[in-house]
Amino acid sequence: MKVEKSSQDLENEVIYAGLCIHCGSCNAFCPHMDFNKETGEAFVVDECAETVGLCYNSCPRTFFPINKIETGIFGETRKDLAVGVYKNIIQVKSKNKDSILYNLVKAAFEEGIVKHMVLTEPKSKKPPVAYPVVVDDAETAKKYIPDKTMDNAGPLVTGIGKAYLERKKQVGFVGNPCHIRGIAKIYNSDFNTGIRETLSLKIAYACSSGGMTACKYCTDFSGEFSDISYSPWGAPKGEAMLIIRTEVGQKVVDGAVKKKLLEITNDNPDLTEMKKFINKKRKKNFKTLIGDSLIKAKYLELTKEEILDLLKE
Ligand code: SF4
Ligand code: SF4
Repeated sequence: MKVEKSSQDLENEVIYAGLCIHCGSCNAFCPHMDFNKETGEAFVVDECAETVGLCYNSCPRTFFPINKIETGIFGETRKDLAVGVYKNIIQVKSKNKDSILYNLVKAAFEEGIVKHMVLTEPKSKKPPVAYPVVVDDAETAKKYIPDKTMDNAGPLVTGIGKAYLERKKQVGFVGNPCHIRGIAKIYNSDFNTGIRETLSLKIAYACSSGGMTACKYCTDFSGEFSDISYSPWGAPKGEAMLIIRTEVGQKVVDGAVKKKLLEITNDNPDLTEMKKFINKKRKKNFKTLIGDSLIKAKYLELTKEEILDLLKE
């Protein structure tokens, strides 16, 4: 999957258009891109001669063919529009003083699924800016586990590029749904970035908003392209829903339960509350994306109502 567009198109269509969510996907593997240390926003360091840019093709806000990307990652497309592809959803609580998210990371190290993790080091709250950190053991990871999704708001995907340059393998990642979308784009692109050999686990922190202006265009609540999505939303206080999407995700959760880091409190939870959160964000932000009129019908400018009327049987 490659589109013949490059950094100037990324500037015009995403950065200057107010769509950039500071995920760091465009500057993870390309030396011509960087991020502003004060705001986290991406910028072009020097115009390159590429006509098919890795930056443009890595950005989750340029184009995002959901079905193709799902097939590339999971080998299937979603049955559940709101939740995405998944194998299992369970409700869990921590069996110790540590957080559920930390216990997942610890289990990933102990099961040998990761040897390193890309985590977050928040630098500022207003605007929310976090830098990525690469840690090499579970004990160090404890310091960098996010408490909330705002702690992740920053170019964390660049941490994977850093780990790659340091020749690290079996690297895990914790981030917001937007980061996981950027990773999914890079993973599915035809560019040889090395991400497939580097990354071994993706954990998403379900997110209603990361506090950035461009969050209003985000339609992914749960982190639909992760191995495991962690959602305190829709679970009783102190517990969380885990959406397990892949075999690797299942292995991490099984390890956490076997080692008594997590306890399954419900193996068939009621998803009504969680879906309320998901649908609220999806519906609201789809409307923001569409706007009051649809201008993409060739020469016609149509309103939402007109389109809905045309689609009626
Ligand atoms: S890849 Fe992420 S950081 Fe780069 S322009 Fe797109 S949204 Fe912004
Ligand atoms: S709402 Fe959350 S997942 Fe969506 S762009 Fe903002 S920080 Fe990322």
